[in-house]
Amino acid sequence: MSRIDHSSSQTDSMNSEWEYAPAPETTEVNIESRYGLFVGGRFIASKGRRRFDTINPATEISLSSISESNEKDIDAAVASARKAFRGWSRTKPIERAKYLYRIARRIQERARELAILESMDGGKPIRESRDVDIPLVAQHFFHHAGWCDKLQYAIPGHHDPRPLGVCAQVIPWNFPLLMAAWKIAPALACGNTVVLKPAETTSLTALRLAEIFQECELPEGVVNIVTGAGETGRLLVEHRGVNKVAFTGSTEVGKMIARSCAGTSKRVTLELGGKSPNIVFADAAIDQAVEGVVSAIWFNQGHVCCAGSRLFLEESIHDEFVRRLEHRMRKLRVGDPLDKNTDVGAINSGEQLEKINSYLQHGVDEGATMTQCCERDLPENGFWCRPTFFTEVQPSAKIAREEIFGPVLSVMTFRTPEEAIQRANDSPYGLSAGIWTDKGSKVFEIASRMKAGVIWCNTFNKFDAASPFGGYKESGWGREGGRHGLAAYLA
Ligand code: NAD
Ligand code: MN
Repeated sequence: MSRIDHSSSQTDSMNSEWEYAPAPETTEVNIESRYGLFVGGRFIASKGRRRFDTINPATEISLSSISESNEKDIDAAVASARKAFRGWSRTKPIERAKYLYRIARRIQERARELAILESMDGGKPIRESRDVDIPLVAQHFFHHAGWCDKLQYAIPGHHDPRPLGVCAQVIPWNFPLLMAAWKIAPALACGNTVVLKPAETTSLTALRLAEIFQECELPEGVVNIVTGAGETGRLLVEHRGVNKVAFTGSTEVGKMIARSCAGTSKRVTLELGGKSPNIVFADAAIDQAVEGVVSAIWFNQGHVCCAGSRLFLEESIHDEFVRRLEHRMRKLRVGDPLDKNTDVGAINSGEQLEKINSYLQHGVDEGATMTQCCERDLPENGFWCRPTFFTEVQPSAKIAREEIFGPVLSVMTFRTPEEAIQRANDSPYGLSAGIWTDKGSKVFEIASRMKAGVIWCNTFNKFDAASPFGGYKESGWGREGGRHGLAAYLA
């Protein structure tokens, strides 16, 4: 059991309109010592014996033992979803909406507990899980509840909206509960049923969501949750009883999934990696742009697929901008994710930290200049990376081309808008882009020529259930969120 005191933090959570819970002074979070799977509306033991621990990446202490689902478990989960599909797909849309509203409300009521659990299991700062992740999780269910009985009016080509069937959904560890909501809410709104696999380092909030489904009396089998690592994910997406695959994770695994689904009747959407450009013009409001760059790359330790990890500065402002950025970076507080003053929490796993560190080494070896925050000591245990930026980066450098998925920014320059566009688009990825300028005409011109699914102007990393999200090129297939996201769950 773990306790966290929220008594002094009530006012700073008011900026979220989705915050609703009459917050208790102290929140208790129970974590079972071991978990099974959620199949057919019940928590059951895996048919295999293999288990693994999920740890708190800020302490390296084990939080719980998680089941590794095997082939028989996947068979059972898909069968349960298939059986539930008969009833759920024929449930009146307005009735489906009631379940989704109920789930959304219950998420709000249990928001603090979910936020703490998310931060403990994954390492993200409590301020982010409390003010960003969990409120957006609730928003996603509210948003999709409203869609259930209106699909025929708004989705082109769907006057008679029909669900696809059983959806296999595999999600990553960077926004564990939010990715579960992104996947589950639209699937259910359209009348599909689900088998979801959370990432192996962050299974706890998905299992807690299963409890919420029970509390809301969601019909059994409509959502099933199977835990495990890559092999479990592979068994799930390759299962013959699956009609649709929705995946968020690395481009490498995304390509494997695309190959394994090719030639089947499965529908596939993929949300993959990114190396997104953030372009700052000399006419931008500089301090605002500095703040935007901070949240573009250091939000959630940079474990963000749409992170603004390539900063392009107009040459004339480069030195001044970098000076202000360094000053701001040195104020970031790295440390205990459960401390509400923490800006940058723990790296999600030892493996991910190794990967990030190897990129830091590449950056130095390739001749770029590395600047890191901060002088303060980092905790002895746990996985930590200081917020970092590189200057004098060659566009061909590894750190300028590959996704690092950590708090590491590569700073480059441009002279003309034309050059900015060309450099920004020169990437195998195309997930998001940021544009900072005072000139509206520049915004429209640049945005229309940017090969990126999401483009932010004078802001970055803002999410809303109503706006579609997804990528060009190796960043993926299809869109999630809004009207476009729903179409991917209809036949
Ligand atoms: P990953 O793609 O291996 O894992 C994502 C999810 O896919 C997890 O649930 C995992 O268990 C599952 N998975 C793994 N192999 C699978 C397979 N063959 N079939 C089906 N499911 C499978 O990502 P990772 O190893 O956790 O991270 C590696 C890198 O991927 C990161 O460093 C980062 O660059 C990138 N990444 C991107 C995102 C994103 O949102 N775009 C998210 C996580 C990781
Ligand atoms: Mn964990």
